[in-house]
Amino acid sequence: MTPPPARSPEEAKEQILAYARKRGALAVGVASVADIERVAPAGHRPSDVLPRARSVISVGVGGPTAGDWYKPAKILAYNGGSEGAAYRVSYGLAYFIESTFGYRSVFCPPDPDPERGTRVALQSIKLHAELAGIGARSIAGDILLHPEFGFMYYSSTFTEMPLPADDPMPENPCPTASCVELYSRTGQTPCMRYCPVQCLDAVIDVRTRTVRESRYEMYKCAELTQQYEAMPGLLRQLLASAEDDRSRYLDGPQAQDLWYKLSIGEGEMVAQCFECMRVCPIARRAPQADPLLRGAKKRAGTVEPPELGHSRPGLRG
Ligand code: SF4
Ligand code: SF4
Repeated sequence: MTPPPARSPEEAKEQILAYARKRGALAVGVASVADIERVAPAGHRPSDVLPRARSVISVGVGGPTAGDWYKPAKILAYNGGSEGAAYRVSYGLAYFIESTFGYRSVFCPPDPDPERGTRVALQSIKLHAELAGIGARSIAGDILLHPEFGFMYYSSTFTEMPLPADDPMPENPCPTASCVELYSRTGQTPCMRYCPVQCLDAVIDVRTRTVRESRYEMYKCAELTQQYEAMPGLLRQLLASAEDDRSRYLDGPQAQDLWYKLSIGEGEMVAQCFECMRVCPIARRAPQADPLLRGAKKRAGTVEPPELGHSRPGLRG
């Protein structure tokens, strides 16, 4: 049913947030384009995509299920995600705003910059979510975390409609008390300790529980996760093949598909191994981190977070 026309920007915003929640967003917020453009570099600003954009609506949808965290790293890197659900909400929002309020709107997925390769995003979906107040940067390579929903997938909608902006989260949930406790004993938080290539580091003020400095060596992370990707495998086959057999790898039907994916960054060219999130107390144990916890909370009004590795309500083992 089409909602009645909004009488004020606040009322319009409420209708937009309600639409996003109804379509499956766990968290949704608004960032002003002016604020984003104070931080985002030229070429990566919302107005580079939609020249008269005024507002960015950021949505977060639920991350892995309880079972996903038990998959081997290679499997989790590829099919642990639910990012498609975030894209559906954002695409629906663009349509909803255009049809309800008459302002031009576009859906913005986290696609890479076609001129700068697959590791450089065209738009920082993280920045949008951070300024919209639905995620905060963690020590684990800046992955956004939410104190209630843990690890989410994000997507954005740009609109020419002026909407009241939200504020960033007042406090960063990372690092948690247990992470600081481990850090004070060992010099490492769980994500730092269990990263297979040790590409995370941070200096934490134990007294105030704040991060003074953090380091993420993205190319080490990428090097590890590239072993799961199709492109290096194809290039290996190509290099090992006889010269007169090479055009099969370079021009054959399988290669065409891969070159296309490479040029647009599809096919998990930005994979992560997820080990940092597998051990993260927020990603695993935030009060509504997995769908069973959310369902239990909805039914009972409240639910206690289970211990890491313990069974969830309704799950065996
Ligand atoms: S995704 Fe894997 S390699 Fe990258 S930071 Fe996390 S644990 Fe380390
Ligand atoms: S394990 Fe999670 S909460 Fe702890 S420091 Fe790492 S990202 Fe932050």
